[in-house]
Amino acid sequence: MYTFNPGPSQVYPQVRQYLQDAFDEGWLSTPHRGEKFVQLMRQTVQELKTKLNIPQDYTIFFLSSATECWEVLAQSLTPTKSFHLYNGAFGQKWYQAAKALRPATVGLTFGIDEVPDADNLPGLDEQTDLVCITQNETATTTQLRDGTILNLYNRLPSKALLAVDATSSMAGVQIKFIKGDIWYSSVQKCFGLPAGLAVMVLSPRAIERMRQLKERSHYNSLTEQYDKMLNFQTTHTPNVLGIYLLNRSIHDNPPIKVTHQHVVERATKLYDYFDQATQLRPLVTNPETRSSTVVGLTAAPALIEEVKRRALENGLFIGSGYGERKATGLRIANFPAIPDAAFEQLVQFFAKEFS
Ligand SMILES: *Cc1c(COP(=O)(O)O)cnc(C)c1O
Repeated sequence: MYTFNPGPSQVYPQVRQYLQDAFDEGWLSTPHRGEKFVQLMRQTVQELKTKLNIPQDYTIFFLSSATECWEVLAQSLTPTKSFHLYNGAFGQKWYQAAKALRPATVGLTFGIDEVPDADNLPGLDEQTDLVCITQNETATTTQLRDGTILNLYNRLPSKALLAVDATSSMAGVQIKFIKGDIWYSSVQKCFGLPAGLAVMVLSPRAIERMRQLKERSHYNSLTEQYDKMLNFQTTHTPNVLGIYLLNRSIHDNPPIKVTHQHVVERATKLYDYFDQATQLRPLVTNPETRSSTVVGLTAAPALIEEVKRRALENGLFIGSGYGERKATGLRIANFPAIPDAAFEQLVQFFAKEFS
């Protein structure tokens, strides 16, 4: 059985061995203030920086989910308001989470085939603390290219930081961390690991802002987390198993450049195939806005139902469309943990049954 669900997604097969090792090596009861854990944290941070090309002067935090990152960013780095540019459900949820805490927060939507124009963003003003974008919108299967993110970054209001949800792309495609101040992801997507851990990366500029604001009124306040992280510790008992699995997996995986190339090539093949050969069509028609890590397809509800059912009979679990597109959509995760053999089987299935 292969799963193409875009989260929780197929985990790396090595996870089975890592879990066994975690148990045998006593990680499940390792004290989180002890030297053994601190070593693990230090190593994991270094390994992440090396393998994902994260600048050495950026700071890494471990949280429990991308959703927790939304709340922490609103609490700790948004004294006034944030500005959210989005085209799908995850970007919208982030906007709503921020607005619940900072009512002056502003949202602006754009279309799934549209590249947002950094020069025309009504509602973005000098009072904005954070400009929030979703690099890979898992719900609409769209992606913001590096050039778009760079344009936004270059046009930020003077005190604003650029915060990027990279939940379904970090560790799958190469991210230009220097073109953003805050990047986060949770590990059940491109990291190919079980859920329950998020990685958040902050630029020196974001850390400087955090220092000025000194927000300490929540259990997960960034300032508190930062103080602990200076010694590779956490504010509360962390997901030690999750961090252990991340450590092993990042260590055993190739540098992001290699993974990136593989993922992008596979995405190109998938789009080429679905552009021509089947009764289904890619949801996103603009090649410039298509996601490389989650491929969205669309068709009439009856056909979607049939594809899902027949795929399951063939040992292929395809993700549903998200939210309003549940009945008319399919999503195929193109995450690195899913082997090429799975995609060969998937394409053969479509060629045989739905061409
Ligand atoms: C999955 C996902 C989230 C939510 O992640 P959690 O770990 O469940 O909080 C947020 N943003 C995007 C883009 C996602 O794909």
